[in-house]
Amino acid sequence: MADVPAECNIKVLCRFRPLNQSEILRGDQYLPIFQGDDTVIIGGKPYIFDRVFPTNTTQEQVYNTCAKQIVKDVLCGYNGTIFAYGQTSSGKTHTMEGKLHDPHQMGIIPRIAEDIFNHIFMSYLVFFLMLNCVVTKTNLSVHEDKNRVPYVKGCTERFVSSPDEVMDVIDEGKANRHVAVTNMNEHSSRSHSIFLINIKQEHVETGQKLCGKLYLVDLAGSEKVSKTGAAGAVLDEAKNINKSLSALGNVISALAEGTKSHVPYRDSKMTRILQDSLGGNCRTTMFICCSPSSYNDTETKSTLMFGQRLE
Ligand code: ADP
Ligand code: MG
Repeated sequence: MADVPAECNIKVLCRFRPLNQSEILRGDQYLPIFQGDDTVIIGGKPYIFDRVFPTNTTQEQVYNTCAKQIVKDVLCGYNGTIFAYGQTSSGKTHTMEGKLHDPHQMGIIPRIAEDIFNHIFMSYLVFFLMLNCVVTKTNLSVHEDKNRVPYVKGCTERFVSSPDEVMDVIDEGKANRHVAVTNMNEHSSRSHSIFLINIKQEHVETGQKLCGKLYLVDLAGSEKVSKTGAAGAVLDEAKNINKSLSALGNVISALAEGTKSHVPYRDSKMTRILQDSLGGNCRTTMFICCSPSSYNDTETKSTLMFGQRLE
């Protein structure tokens, strides 16, 4: 197994998108002040992360700084999870997926796909790759097999052999994703999108086997229910989402603290699914995605606070 530095396995990174057209037209202020490569100041208060990516950071810089190493580790048999957290329209999907077929604008998932296949090509190993795309709905059912390993019923599972096939799986997942319309924006994604890359390798000569799993999670928008003006079923769903996001926060902060004997994995479906890819030796990375606009001031501060708790 490759040498991996014995540093903290949970990384929290913060990324700010640019002001968008409607924010500029409305005359919104651009709030963040960046300091060094790990600090952002909002309203005079500094927020410190493992890394802060200012507005002009490219997709390639983001990938090289934080995802590339995780791919190497997963190919060495480690498990990992990369999350994107933030309010709707803060840049989560841009970070995780980006524009799939655009070499400059593509996000982490397509870059990982290319990277994995490049590594495979250069090595003397036989690889089996499996990808599946899970869409979590409020009625999603999580089951446990006879070894008490949780699995999700009804998700797509695919064997893939090229980056293009990975893109196809992403497109399929997008089509399935449950989107409920709210007045927060044109639409707000009220579901978590979970993408799993499962890599199984076998050495041609020695027959030695290695397995590594990487979850890529584009979380549902973290905005407060009141601002969205949601009602009825949409409101219930929003409450459920807020609950699962705080359950996730509790799990990661318990892991980051490292002293807690009880990590509340069982408090939400998502943390049950991700259990074997969070904490311990697993590589866990959380992208905290933020809007720079004064209009989103309150949400941005609460997003930053969520991230600070995980450090
Ligand atoms: P979310 O998934 O959090 O709801 P999106 O990723 O869809 O938000 O981003 C909202 C819009 O902002 C999209 O049109 C996206 O292309 C754009 N965007 C987000 N982040 C960036 C960025 N870093 N640079 C340029 N455009 C961005
Ligand atoms: Mg999105």
